[in-house]
Amino acid sequence: MKYAAVVISITAKALDHVFSYAIPDRLQSRLNKKGMRVSIPFGKGNRQIEGYVIGFADSLPEGIDISKIKEISDILEQYPVISEKRIALAYWMQTEYYSTLSDCMQCIIPKKVKSKTYKCAYIDFENVDIKAIDEIIAKNNKQSRVLRFLIDGGSVPISHIRGFLGIDTAPINALVKKGIVKTEENEVYRGNYNTARAVKNSGFELTDEQKAAVEAILENDGRPVLLKGVTGSGKTEVYLRVIEKMIERGKQSIVLVPEISLTPQTVDRFISRFGDTVAVTHSRMSDGERYDQWRRAASSEIAVMIGPRSAVFTPFENIGAIIIDEEHESAYKADQQSPKYDAREIALKLSELYGCTVVLGSATPSVVSYHKAEAGAYRLVEMKKRVNLSPPEMIVTDMREELAAGNRGIFGRDLKEAIKRNLDEKKQTILFLNRRGHSTFVSCRSCGHVMTCENCNVNYTYHEYNRSLMCHYCGASVAIPEKCPECGSEYIRYFGVGTQRIEQEVIRHFPQARVLRMDADTTREKNSHTEILDRFREHDADILIGTQMIAKGLDFPDVTLVGIIAADLSLNLNDYHSGEITYQLITQVAGRAGRAEKPGRVFVQTYCPEHYSIQAAVNGNYESFYEQEREFRRIMRYPPFTNIFFVLVSGEDEKKVYRVIMTLHEIMRRYNKKGDFELFAPTPAVISKIKRKYRYRMMVRADDTDRLKKYVLYTIEKLGAHMPLDDVSVNISLNPNYSF
Ligand code: ADP
Ligand code: ZN
Ligand code: ZN
Repeated sequence: MKYAAVVISITAKALDHVFSYAIPDRLQSRLNKKGMRVSIPFGKGNRQIEGYVIGFADSLPEGIDISKIKEISDILEQYPVISEKRIALAYWMQTEYYSTLSDCMQCIIPKKVKSKTYKCAYIDFENVDIKAIDEIIAKNNKQSRVLRFLIDGGSVPISHIRGFLGIDTAPINALVKKGIVKTEENEVYRGNYNTARAVKNSGFELTDEQKAAVEAILENDGRPVLLKGVTGSGKTEVYLRVIEKMIERGKQSIVLVPEISLTPQTVDRFISRFGDTVAVTHSRMSDGERYDQWRRAASSEIAVMIGPRSAVFTPFENIGAIIIDEEHESAYKADQQSPKYDAREIALKLSELYGCTVVLGSATPSVVSYHKAEAGAYRLVEMKKRVNLSPPEMIVTDMREELAAGNRGIFGRDLKEAIKRNLDEKKQTILFLNRRGHSTFVSCRSCGHVMTCENCNVNYTYHEYNRSLMCHYCGASVAIPEKCPECGSEYIRYFGVGTQRIEQEVIRHFPQARVLRMDADTTREKNSHTEILDRFREHDADILIGTQMIAKGLDFPDVTLVGIIAADLSLNLNDYHSGEITYQLITQVAGRAGRAEKPGRVFVQTYCPEHYSIQAAVNGNYESFYEQEREFRRIMRYPPFTNIFFVLVSGEDEKKVYRVIMTLHEIMRRYNKKGDFELFAPTPAVISKIKRKYRYRMMVRADDTDRLKKYVLYTIEKLGAHMPLDDVSVNISLNPNYSF
């Protein structure tokens, strides 16, 4: 072939088409597959950039001037970096997510990195007595986990060991000191995918519900399976069995989990079952590590990939199953990048392309997914029983009654009593509040002035440990003022409770309690997340206080009491998802109680116990929640009954931002003569200023997604032709997770 069709790695809308390049003779025999990455000259200066070959031809497309055609300079890898099916996926994403083809290709293909060497570790079997190894393994600590990981032989990059096990280098260094483990510099890690050794049965006899679920998933009637199973019903065991079967069939699987449930505990369950046929990706990996994982997947060295949403692009060509755990999580949608893809939708598209099974698992399915199951588009499979135990006992505390009875504290009287009893009985307690900091609202007693961030239209949160005011939106931090900046009064008041305040109250009421707190402030260091959970598991603390970081996936057998401090916090989000989010949070947090033989109790503290989300969560009745939520959305015309486009204009010059959004509104009106699209007036966004940028939003609603998308894209193009948009940004999002 003489010519190649090339997608270039520059992501400008104006360059969003396929370019023709000539293939020089010296590359003729080697450049022979679609999907190969090449280096090409581009633009006036012939700068070298990357491109992806997506087709070949003997002649140029009509109308192209042969004298303008440039030559491909070089081939970057000897193998295709994207398969034909995935090129099709990129094309689909381009229209689905109104993005450029180049952006979509780069989302699917990881960044190219030069191969390098890794510091690897291995067990020095030749010089170490096997007894010494066994002794450490028997101890069940971090060092033993490292040895168990390395015992199958081979030299493994230390970064992989840390990633797999969620540890720092200390236990590895300790083993090196003992002379049991040695380190060396190695080329890229080559795992050995060996099915015969990899599959180890768990020894569990599956419950009837689990058996039925596994069968339904393996049957694959062409529809995705919505696996609705209460927490503790054994969904993870179902995933493991499905993957096992896939490995037997020579097929590969992807498991998606929200980043915060990518805990060592979850990962360990997969590793102990499948050994080194499993790889894990996470957001803290370097480009080099990511590229390696991707190569291992592409060359079938591994059979299972676990990771957050981007793991959906793992290049398995023989893919059998994509499992999406906690499918209701908003983290599966990429809201902050282009393309704004949804990993759940990508999974469904892949199942169309590859015929693989998609499993959407959750104890609290999203309203949108359950609606699809109701309509028959998804196959609903339910698991209603916890494997070994009864559901936790849920107790509602009406905080208005507490107030009326003279209790102005943070804890209801019953919860306080229960914490005390739990401490006496040496059992563990989890206290949940989805808000970090100490006080969320700081104001002057004399004039009422509220301390707000200079860059954002947001109240400062008071942080006790460094006695500072912090903005949770831009990260700004200022010392607490000694006097009110408005009136000079020295009397400052603190309102609104955050996790630090809970910690303080716990220590005040229960001085004997050992307390751990897990939130964004205590988990800044790389491994602090794991350390806190390890310490809690090892009974290094009686009470764990935390934000939504502790809501998911944790399995602590001695936790018998859970306190949800302000269950209605998420009801005030000013967002049509708030009922759904509230139901999910209460249910997920409650699931942390009584995971083992010990029965669990959950106190739900609220000022509006009558709200249907809270009622349904307390009764563990998803159907009742869903029916009321569905009616609310139907009447209010919210998704899934219709579609809403949010348009956000932001910039430092407020007048300009306002002019732009008003002009857009005017253009939209002009192209909406028939009134097919419901236009809402522009307003300041929920948070009207972030990082010195003013934010205005407008909403457009219509039933037909495709027409709505075309309309919004078209009118924004018109807007760009109408006025320069260089110092503002226009952001659009279809049915976003959060209103903005
Ligand atoms: P889920 O993911 O639905 O919350 P898990 O898969 O974590 O539930 O299972 C809950 C607990 O029950 C785990 O400790 C797991 O090891 C155990 N378990 C799961 N299936 C079985 C089974 N068939 N027999 C005995 N124990 C099981
Ligand atoms: Zn004042
Ligand atoms: Zn700020």
